[in-house]
Parts: sequence; structure tokens; C-alpha cells
Amino acid sequence: MHEPGEATNPAVRADDARDYVEFWPAGVATSGWFLCTACGNTVIVRQVLPRCMLCGERLWERAQIRGTPAWTAV
Ligand SMILES: [Zn+2]
Repeated sequence: MHEPGEATNPAVRADDARDYVEFWPAGVATSGWFLCTACGNTVIVRQVLPRCMLCGERLWERAQIRGTPAWTAV
């Protein structure tokens, strides 16, 4: 089993992660979309997880967004 902590590209997975919520603390080096566990704020992380800029929470979970977000085309 691979730990997801070192993922540098979006791991395209099936639905097996749907019931599995993994929390990521601020300071972890990663990238991708994350959702604040406290207020639901969504951020795009490029290097290191920050604290939530809205509420100051330090725990994040992976957002259920794969690939390129469609709304950037709006
Ligand atoms: Zn927050």
C-alpha cells in the first residue's frame, strides 16, 4: 500500500476512497485541492498546506475534485 503523502500528481482512483476521509495537517508538503475541515473553504495547494485563511483551521481533507476544475473556464 502506498501512502498518499508524497503524491505529486493527481492519483486517478476509482470510488474506493469515497468512504475514507483522510486528514492532512498544515505544514505537509503536497499539492492539489483541499477542503478545510472546519469551514469548508477550498484551496489549491502547490507546495505546502497552509492554515485556513478564513478560519485558521489546520486540518484539511482532500477535495473530491480530479484533474482540471471545470469552473476555471467560466
Ligand atoms: Zn476554514
